[in-house]
Amino acid sequence: MELDNFATWLEIDLGVLESNYRILHKTTGTPVMSVVKANAYGHGLEEVTKTVEKAGAQWCGVARIEEALLLRNAGIRMNILVLGYTPPQRVQEAVQNKISLTVYDPLMVQAYAQQAALTSQVLDVQVKVDTGMGRLGIPSEKALEFIHQVKDQQEFHFQGIFTHFACADEPEKPYTEQQLEKFNKILRQMYTQGMRPELIHSANSAAALNFPPARFDIVRCGLALYGLSPSSETHLPEGIKPALSWKTRLISIKQLPGGHGVSYGFKYFTKKTEKIGVIAAGYGDGLRRQIGNTVLLRGKRVPVVGNVCMDQCVIQIDHIPDAQVGDEIVLIGKQGKEEITATEIAKKWNTISYEVICGMAARMPRDYTH
Ligand SMILES: *Cc1c(COP(=O)(O)O)cnc(C)c1O
Repeated sequence: MELDNFATWLEIDLGVLESNYRILHKTTGTPVMSVVKANAYGHGLEEVTKTVEKAGAQWCGVARIEEALLLRNAGIRMNILVLGYTPPQRVQEAVQNKISLTVYDPLMVQAYAQQAALTSQVLDVQVKVDTGMGRLGIPSEKALEFIHQVKDQQEFHFQGIFTHFACADEPEKPYTEQQLEKFNKILRQMYTQGMRPELIHSANSAAALNFPPARFDIVRCGLALYGLSPSSETHLPEGIKPALSWKTRLISIKQLPGGHGVSYGFKYFTKKTEKIGVIAAGYGDGLRRQIGNTVLLRGKRVPVVGNVCMDQCVIQIDHIPDAQVGDEIVLIGKQGKEEITATEIAKKWNTISYEVICGMAARMPRDYTH
């Protein structure tokens, strides 16, 4: 890919991604379900999934059936679990494409079974239990009865059972232990009644790293696979690195006299004659419209000034005398000795790194390196 062709773009190092996958596999001692929902957290669904498949991954997890079908159409053969809701009307597609679905509601089971009956194969289903997160899942107290309903459904293959933690990124809080206890109780009851599906799982990245007893048969890693830590209390294993960089170029330089307004709404006025640059990235690409953003130019941090626009924003470059139009600008990633991480940006934006990388717009070209 000729990068001079683009105003702004993402660079995704698939070698780093593959290495992150292997490190997670090794340090947890558990197979890794690569979570590739939301366009692989902005990194590119197909390329990321192909990379982990080549590295030996047996499972990937998505949020929607549309994502699963994109993967099948791209030739991905490994197991795919839709972690979220699937409309019953799409169950036949799931069966035909060998996509596993999540079930958590008795009425949903009936609707799915009716649809699956219209095909000649069984539907692979995994039961999601709410052990305390208060979001999706059959409540723990009703789980065993529900599992029987699922298991007795001849249109289904009861393939797995899982739960999800609310606070695994805060290892000092007792909630994860409590959720784990509830999950284990259900598992013991299942075993007593002779039921043991192939796949028992509970851990997201944070739990996989902070709570070894939550690892079970497979860990579901998203964020850590992309090289980011779910929280400051969660320590990534040695060698895990961010796979994504975001770059643009300096597209204009000029001197503005003192007292000159900059960008929409004049949220910034020059204090004296100032050297002002324009870069080709804006909120249409995923840069939040917020005062206080920073980018890298010639290995130095430079401030974004004035409001971020849809396709551009303005930087103050008085302290970069050798800046030239065409210079590479880094919004996320390394330049010289400096680095801006999605985690740093998330702090500034009062959000989490997940939202920063999921916000990388589809319109940006993605350049894959190894
Ligand atoms: C998104 C998701 C994950 C991955 O979470 P990370 O914190 O990114 O590792 C795991 N499990 C479920 C059910 C999810 O929805």
